[in-house]
Amino acid sequence: MKIANRKVTAERLVRDALDKAKHFADYNIFTFLNEEGALKKAREIDAKIAAGEKVGRLAGVPYALKDNFMSPEGDTTASAHILEGCASPITATAVEKLEAEGAIMIGRTNLDAFAHGSSTENSYFGPTLNAYDQSRVAGGSSGGSAVAVALDIVEFATGTDTGGSIRQPASFNGVYGLKPTYGCISRYGVVAMASSTDCIGFFTKTPGDMDLLMSVANGKDSKDLTTLDNYYHDSKLKKAKRIGVIKEFDNDSVDKNIKKALKKKCELLKSKGYEIVELEMPALKYALAAYYIIVPAEVASNLSRYDGVRYGFRSKKSEDLDALYSETRSEGFMPENKRRIMIGNFVLSSGFYDAYFLKAAKARTLIVEEYAKAFEKCDFILTPVAPNPAFKLGEKTNDPVAMYLEDAMSVPLNLAGVPGLTIPAGKNADGLPIGLQLIGPRRSDKSLIEFSKELTE
Ligand code: GLN
Repeated sequence: MKIANRKVTAERLVRDALDKAKHFADYNIFTFLNEEGALKKAREIDAKIAAGEKVGRLAGVPYALKDNFMSPEGDTTASAHILEGCASPITATAVEKLEAEGAIMIGRTNLDAFAHGSSTENSYFGPTLNAYDQSRVAGGSSGGSAVAVALDIVEFATGTDTGGSIRQPASFNGVYGLKPTYGCISRYGVVAMASSTDCIGFFTKTPGDMDLLMSVANGKDSKDLTTLDNYYHDSKLKKAKRIGVIKEFDNDSVDKNIKKALKKKCELLKSKGYEIVELEMPALKYALAAYYIIVPAEVASNLSRYDGVRYGFRSKKSEDLDALYSETRSEGFMPENKRRIMIGNFVLSSGFYDAYFLKAAKARTLIVEEYAKAFEKCDFILTPVAPNPAFKLGEKTNDPVAMYLEDAMSVPLNLAGVPGLTIPAGKNADGLPIGLQLIGPRRSDKSLIEFSKELTE
C-alpha cells in the first residue's frame, strides 16, 4: 500500500531488508542472499509505479523463501550437502504466484536438511539461532524463515509443514505460522519430504497478512493433482461458538507456562461468550508413532532419486557406478536423513510391512475419524503447539527420540490433513515466546485465520 501511494520505494524496502539480513548474519538465517536479483525487481516495480501502471497486491514486499522451494534465484539446497550447487530446473507454483503479485525474494532460508527435524540443527550449514535467545534453537525445520520474520527482516516468509515445521518454529519465535488444509496450496516445485503430509504455508506478523498470502497462493494446480479446488476464495466465514480443548494434551509433559497461556486464552474466549468444550481424543496417542512410520516410508522413496548423477553434489571417491551412488549418499546426506531412509525401508520391507506400515496407516484412519467426531462437538480446537518453548542448542541432538517427542501435538494435524495456525500467546519468565495452535476442520482455513483475531486481547 505504502508503495502504491509512493510513500516509500520498493528499492528502499528491499535495501532495508538486505541491510537487516546482513546485520543479523550471526543468526545464520540465510543460505543465500538475493541482492542483485531483488534490487533489479524492486527497480522494475518502482518504474511501473512511476509510469502509472498497475502493480500486484504484494508489489515490492520483501520476503524470505525456505530453501526447499525451487526458483531460478539461487540454488535450491534444502540445506543438504547432496543438493549443493543444484540450480532449479523449474519454479515452484507458490513462488510463481507470489512473484506475479510483485513480492520480492531477498534470500533463501536455512532448514533442517530436507526438512527432517524440529530445531534447524540438522542443517549442513549449521543451526539458525532463536530470535529471542541466541543460546536456543530456532525450532524447525523452517527455523530460518521463522527468525527472518521475528527479527523483522522481511514481512513474510514461506515454509513447509510435514509434521509441524511451520507451527513449531513460529511458536518458538513469537510469530504467526499457518499449515493450511492438505492440498490447499500446490506442492509443485517444492523438494518433497513426505508427499501425503507435506503442506506449503507462511510465517507472518499478523492474521491479516496471512489471509492476503493465502488468497494469493491457494488453488488448484494441474501440476499437483492433490491440490483441491479454489475453496479459499469462496469460503464463507463460519461463526464459531464452541472451542474445544484436548484432555489428553493436559499432561505433565507440557510446560506449566504453556498450560497457563492456554487457560488464559480459554478465559478470554469465555469472557467473549464462547463455550469451552473438553474433548477426549484417545486415538491421538498413536499419532507420533504412526507419523514416524509413515513419514520415513515416504522419505525413503522421495530421497531415492538423489544418486549423484542427476542433481547437485557427486562424490569424487567413486570408482564405479555402485560406489558413486553409495559414496554420494553417504557423504551427501545428514545423519537424520540416513536414519529416516533406513527406518523407511525397514517398515516397507516385505517381512515388516504388515506389522508397521499397514498398522500405522490404520491408526491414521482412526485419527482422521477422531477429528471428524471432535468437529461435531466444537468449531475449532485450541492446543499447545509443542510441549515446551525453545530449548537449548545441542540439548536434544544426541537423542532422536527426545527430538521426535517435540512433534507430539503438531503431527496429528498432518496425518488428518486439517489446518493449524500458530498464534503468539505471550512469553514465559525467561522472555521466550509461547505459541498456541488453533485447529479447524478441513477447508476452514479462512475462518480459522479470521477467528484467531478473537484471541488477541
Ligand atoms: N519435526 C518433524 C519431523 O522432523 C516435522 C518436520 C516437518 O514438518 N518438515 O518430521
